[in-house]
Amino acid sequence: MAIILSGKEVAAAIRQETAHQVSALIGRGLQPRLHLLRIGERPDDISYQHAIEKACANTGISCTKTVLDVSDGQTALIAALDEAAADASIHGILLFSPLPQGYDLAAAARHLPAGKDVDCINPHSAGAIFTGEAAYPPCTAAAVMELLRFYNADLEGKSATVVGRSLVVGKPLAMLLLAANATVTIAHSRSRNLPAICRGADILIAATGRAKMFRGNCFTPGQVVIDVGFNDDPEQEGGVCGDVDYEAAEPIVAAITPVPGGVGSITSAILCAHVADACAKTQKAQAND
Ligand code: NAP
Repeated sequence: MAIILSGKEVAAAIRQETAHQVSALIGRGLQPRLHLLRIGERPDDISYQHAIEKACANTGISCTKTVLDVSDGQTALIAALDEAAADASIHGILLFSPLPQGYDLAAAARHLPAGKDVDCINPHSAGAIFTGEAAYPPCTAAAVMELLRFYNADLEGKSATVVGRSLVVGKPLAMLLLAANATVTIAHSRSRNLPAICRGADILIAATGRAKMFRGNCFTPGQVVIDVGFNDDPEQEGGVCGDVDYEAAEPIVAAITPVPGGVGSITSAILCAHVADACAKTQKAQAND
């Protein structure tokens, strides 16, 4: 029987620590504030927004938002970003993505200052993750690292395979694992003999967005399996599932994250932690002026 790596305990611990930090900041006259920027009414964005608003309320962070109509266009998006960037009472900005057709995320992201880029969408922040400079990693990648840290996973010298190479999950996560001295493999849709690559990993991280694609032939005894996927369950109307076939993996591996209740539960807590940290850095910068 595998150990179940629940994300809920991890999120609760992060929220508790953040709430302490926020309360200390408020005591010094600083109210940490996150500003959300949403375009249109995508149900995924709205449900993530509700999770963020709840996490902010639980940690004492103020959360405000601008909602643009899909027809408003790139110029309106950049104006909204510039306004939030210039507002000293805002410490973190989150732009929901993917953006609707006709919008240019890369061009918009350049208007987000690194200090307020709490989900790493500006290419400079992403670059800093690769060079090891200070930056906020994408919340999902950071959530995986926090989960591994919380459960005392030993990464030093271990082989960690990340399947998926997106800019929001796979690539930055590979860099964070490398910084933790894991021996990292990145696999993707063109990788040959994926099951064998997966079986060779001490720590296997599935981030493909393909429901239950990791079957029993991908696992070996002793492995730690982290499932980043969050997909509609093809076998259960209205249900969600990960990229891992949980029923196949759980009897084989040493530890595994559930979906739901795994990595996804931690993301909004990480976001709050980033906002509190950004606010604390503002205070330090003011003190040094
Ligand atoms: P993405 O941008 O679509 O990237 C998917 C990656 O998986 C790509 O690099 C792709 O390879 C690779 N891939 C796709 N099919 C594959 C296959 N059959 N074999 C091997 N590799 C394959 O997705 P993403 O944004 O990184 O998200 C990945 C998953 O994480 C999704 O399920 C998403 O819902 C979930 N997610 C969860 C959270 C959370 O908070 N829990 C947050 C963000 C994302 P190529 O590059 O070769 O195309």
